Amino acid sequence: MADVVVIGAGVAGIQAALDLADHEVHVHLIEREPTIGGHMAQLDKTFPTNDCSMCILSPKMVEVARHRNVTIHTCSEVESVEGEAGNFTVRVKKHPRYVIESECNGCGDCTRICPVEVYNRFDAGIGVRKAIYKPHAQAVPDIVVKDQEHCIECGLCYDACGKEAILHEDEERVFEISAASIVVTTGYATFDARNKKQLRYLAIPDVITSLEFERMINASGPTGGKLKRLSNGRPPRSIAFVQCVGSRDLAAGRPYCSGVCCMYAMKNAMLVREKNPDIEVTIFYNDIRAYGKGYEEYYERARNLGVRFVRGFPGEVLEENDRLMMVAENTETREVETFYPDLVVLSVGLEPADGGEVIARMLGIPRDDSGFFGVADQKVGPVLTVKPGIYVAGTAVAPKDIPDSVATGEAAAMRAFLDAIRVG
Ligand SMILES: Cc1cc2nc3c(=O)[nH]c(=O)nc-3n(C[C@H](O)[C@H](O)[C@H](O)COP(=O)(O)OP(=O)(O)OC[C@H]3O[C@@H](n4cnc5c(N)ncnc54)[C@H](O)[C@@H]3O)c2cc1C
Repeated sequence: MADVVVIGAGVAGIQAALDLADHEVHVHLIEREPTIGGHMAQLDKTFPTNDCSMCILSPKMVEVARHRNVTIHTCSEVESVEGEAGNFTVRVKKHPRYVIESECNGCGDCTRICPVEVYNRFDAGIGVRKAIYKPHAQAVPDIVVKDQEHCIECGLCYDACGKEAILHEDEERVFEISAASIVVTTGYATFDARNKKQLRYLAIPDVITSLEFERMINASGPTGGKLKRLSNGRPPRSIAFVQCVGSRDLAAGRPYCSGVCCMYAMKNAMLVREKNPDIEVTIFYNDIRAYGKGYEEYYERARNLGVRFVRGFPGEVLEENDRLMMVAENTETREVETFYPDLVVLSVGLEPADGGEVIARMLGIPRDDSGFFGVADQKVGPVLTVKPGIYVAGTAVAPKDIPDSVATGEAAAMRAFLDAIRVG
């Protein structure tokens, strides 16, 4: 049967690849990062069940990597696409990893000895990693990557590697794949909170984003799961979550609702209260959007756990005598209240992943006003594009939670499967 290309290996892409592979279609799963998994690998727990995110994702990552019908291409991006449904030629560029993939066994000796520490993107800004590193403990493939930009060529890693798997020189490789169809699951990026200057992200260490908070409360994250003020390392006594940072905000050019922020803020607020009932938790919101199955009950649970909901937004985050201060009008009581949180968590919205315009141009598919990929018909063709043989799924189309990302990944896989059997 003809092959299928899936671009982007977050949970939506992994699910699409697994469904196709289980139906004997060979899949090329193309991921630009050194590991598959996408954003879900960064999350601690997942609403509405509060299951551990990696406990659900990691088995899927391993299954897709071991599947005889899947070839994973990490550190790779699509360079060009030619042809039509049933007969695409996809040119892929593989960036250098500076490691012989077939030799590296992921033992980590090189990482331990590397003296260089740099900001860790996986820990969303609050952790560090080495210049030769594994993106995280459950990375797939379970091998390291050398960040040549920060490597100081001290030579220690070459000596430490018993397999002689680390390369001084490496180069980009380009190869072609023939495919019956293409599934685009390139996901999302989070809003850059620096654009809301009044919230003082990066100007005040105790103002962090929701993704950073996910890493902070994760037992395998940079603080070992301990809640800390980044300014002084002490545990916070009060935490404020500020909703709609880069969502439903015309001035910021983000008019749409990001769909998941109310739920993930409630999740994190509950996790705090469950473990630390002494910490005061307040969520500043516009309206609570809890639309899915069991989501309204989740909201009730948060309230019962003592999470305080204040309808109103603080205009800015201020510092007063070494304390953070926020003033907000509670639009339910009409009272202006002053808050002194130790930690402020900005619930950043979802926006299209970088590079979407290049993919749209290459594939000849439109994007909507917000930059997400457009679908042929929102109601009856939610994974179809205007181009036959090209399908879109997950948050590459619009903000979605994990269940909806997985469901659309499955739907796109079914469409791609039909193309593959048609070609034979
Ligand atoms: C703070 C926070 C907490 C959340 N908590 C929850 C929760 O508890 N429950 C829940 O249901 N949802 C939650 N979500 C939403 C959840 O993260 C998404 O629904 C889900 O991760 C979307 O998966 P995806 O595969 O569509 O996208 P992504 O996870 O973004 O994956 C896309 C993949 O494509 C890759 N990629 C991008 N561009 C290219 C390219 N050009 N070439 C190759 N590869 C590319 C990326 O590197 C990435 O690996 C949360 C979101 C945030 C921000």
